[in-house]
Amino acid sequence: MTKLYAKIPEGPLSEKWSKHKASLKLVNPANKKKIDIIVVGTGLAGASAASSLGEMGYNVKSFCYQDTPRRAHSVAAQGGINAAKNYKNDGDSVYRLFNDMLKGGDFRAREANVYRAAEVSNDVIDHYIALGVPFARDYSGYLDNRSFGGVQVSRTFYAKGQTGQQCILGTYSSLLRQVSKGMVTMFPRRDVLDIVVIDGKARGIITRNLITGEIERHSAHAVVLATGGYGTVYYLSTLAVNSNASAAWAAYKKGAFFGNPSFIQIHPTSIPVLNEFQSKLTLMSESLRNDGRVWVPKTKGDKRIPKDIPEEERDYYLERRYPAFGNLVPRDVASRAAKERCDAGYGVGASGLSVYLDFKDAIKKQGKKAIENKYGNLFEMYEKICGENPYETPMKIYPAGHYTMGGLWVDYNLMTTVTGLYAIGEANFSDHGANRLGASSLMQCSGDGYFILPYTISDYLAGEIRTNKIPVNTPEFEECEKNAKEKIQRILSVNGKQTPAIFHKKLGKIMWDYSGMVRNEEGLKKAIVLLDELKEEFWKDIKISGTANELNQQLEKGLRVADFIELSKLICLDALNRKESCGAHFREESQTENGEARRQDDLYAYVAAWEYTGDDNDPIMHKEELKFENVELKERSYK
Ligand SMILES: Cc1cc2nc3c(=O)[nH]c(=O)nc-3n(C[C@H](O)[C@H](O)[C@H](O)COP(=O)(O)OP(=O)(O)OC[C@H]3O[C@@H](n4cnc5c(N)ncnc54)[C@H](O)[C@@H]3O)c2cc1C
Repeated sequence: MTKLYAKIPEGPLSEKWSKHKASLKLVNPANKKKIDIIVVGTGLAGASAASSLGEMGYNVKSFCYQDTPRRAHSVAAQGGINAAKNYKNDGDSVYRLFNDMLKGGDFRAREANVYRAAEVSNDVIDHYIALGVPFARDYSGYLDNRSFGGVQVSRTFYAKGQTGQQCILGTYSSLLRQVSKGMVTMFPRRDVLDIVVIDGKARGIITRNLITGEIERHSAHAVVLATGGYGTVYYLSTLAVNSNASAAWAAYKKGAFFGNPSFIQIHPTSIPVLNEFQSKLTLMSESLRNDGRVWVPKTKGDKRIPKDIPEEERDYYLERRYPAFGNLVPRDVASRAAKERCDAGYGVGASGLSVYLDFKDAIKKQGKKAIENKYGNLFEMYEKICGENPYETPMKIYPAGHYTMGGLWVDYNLMTTVTGLYAIGEANFSDHGANRLGASSLMQCSGDGYFILPYTISDYLAGEIRTNKIPVNTPEFEECEKNAKEKIQRILSVNGKQTPAIFHKKLGKIMWDYSGMVRNEEGLKKAIVLLDELKEEFWKDIKISGTANELNQQLEKGLRVADFIELSKLICLDALNRKESCGAHFREESQTENGEARRQDDLYAYVAAWEYTGDDNDPIMHKEELKFENVELKERSYK
């Protein structure tokens, strides 16, 4: 029998959340003061949750590995945040946003969660406005919108190409307000190494102080993980280089199931790899596809500079293949189409691994100033990195590892399979199915933190009001601390020859080659063997210089890479199990005659939630069958 209970409320879709909210238990203000909550992560999910819970009267302890919460990776988000406001009067609605998200994710998410995410999206925008986030406005002063991939309406609110940064600044100010009121205590420069579970309930974390190396114990009545995604398994990705999966991986080993780990989005518009010494890739926001046209030369291996290639010799392949959505097809479709053109020999640039994103027509029509107003900072960033001016010559772009739809499995209340352990934002698996539509992540992270978790966690904490402060001198804390120290000693004592970065690069290559944009059975089986070998090699030959009792970034990285290698094997197992193609998961064996993804709803309309059973044992897969009562499961077509 499955151990998964999603707790989806009964009743009509549009009433589920409001009825559920009304039925959740509350904690009275006097009792809230006695309750501690740990929130790990200060991105849009974690900071919004911590500030809301502080405002509500709980004692919150907020952790991040950066020196300040406002450097969380959410700061990098560029293009925008979705909401169903229908300001453009173009037919948008909560239902349409829900439908687009569910369809965009290829029907591999829960209806009830996706609907709720769409429902709270409007509150999120209102809240950010109240916090002073300077979203772009039109001439009359109303909030402006633009379009993102996979939709036919304009629902993306934006602040130039810095939406994440502006939202984080708003969220960060409300977090600091709670810090100054004494409701939130900040613990920056901490790495979470383990989750402490006592009598089946999450009761704390073990952290390493990244400045002193001290191993610390922190307790609480509940623990929230808002630790972001794991796209960095590919080594080169659009994420911040320190983004990692270690806290989620520790939770998995403590009994939290991992949902759909193989659902990883490859973003179509990154600046291509320029040299072998790079440690990250830079995203060019999807918003650029509103005005930029994607093309390659019609002739293989055409080495002429773009302006010498006449219009009739250009292949605007997205417009050709997908006339209904053109350049705004969803990311998985655009990425595979770019790969297909490059693999067939039409790619441009020195390596042949890029396609053009061209603004010539948009500049001619709207003028340079209009384009600069919308994307100025992105153009500047591109020119700084590539040395070419995109106002004059097309950008070169190529797909790169980006966002993880997989993550810790959570029920409708955002609780993992460990009682009292919650996962929000990109760290959970819940709302995007097999593919995320652009601008839906900031919306989900903020919705989870501001408008969903504060209700659902209170329901759990109402049962904890008689639990005293959780002591940290228990055998469970001792055991976890001992294990963390042993792991650190083990990695330091190997004293081999290869640095964590070397192993990370090797890992990235395996994952990109066999578990990237396109996957097949043979490749995935090979990857699993290679990953087992890499793990063995890692523990025989890792070189960490320095000691445990100091600032030691080699040690930080080494521990993260060790976890990535293990997680990567789970990603491949999950990808191997899912023999259908859906969203970003493209199995070569399951495609239509035209090379489009072929879903197999009769066999795979479920969430695969993996249970850890020990380092030397295979994990067990549990299925959460997905029921669709409000949408018809259609083949995704953007033609
Ligand atoms: C370049 C780029 C552009 C993007 N643009 C958009 C966009 O325009 N619109 C959109 O909707 N989405 C966008 N996304 C996706 C979106 O930015 C992320 O999904 C979202 O910001 C994740 O927020 P989060 O709060 O879940 O996690 P993050 O912002 O990643 O924060 C994670 C937090 O967890 C902490 N943490 C992690 N591990 C540990 C640990 N072991 N110990 C202690 N602390 C830990 C970190 O310190 C950090 O504070 C973009 C992503 C990228 C990479």
